[in-house]
Amino acid sequence: MFEIERYFKLFALPVFFIAIGLIGMTIMAADGLRAIAVLAHVVRMGLFISLGVSVTGLIWMGWRLLLLWRWENGKLEGDCHNCYGSSGLLQGPKCMMCGNRTG
Ligand SMILES: [Zn+2]
Repeated sequence: MFEIERYFKLFALPVFFIAIGLIGMTIMAADGLRAIAVLAHVVRMGLFISLGVSVTGLIWMGWRLLLLWRWENGKLEGDCHNCYGSSGLLQGPKCMMCGNRTG
């Protein structure tokens, strides 16, 4: 298994939560008119955040396609005992490819 594959699985979701949390804290920490100003700034940043989310989604999808391609060619050495597929972030210990429990 590639190192980057492990890092992506481990940190993709936490990093997303950290980013959302930081934006939330920035808004909550500011008060009154400043909060509105920060919020307006966040709304303006929304375009870039949306773009970032879309790009992240595209990269994520590309990564999943690469996993599927490697799996179909028998090159994936995932944690599934049944088909050597990989378990996903949201599926927990369940194999993304055949649905078997990997844990
Ligand atoms: Zn499997």
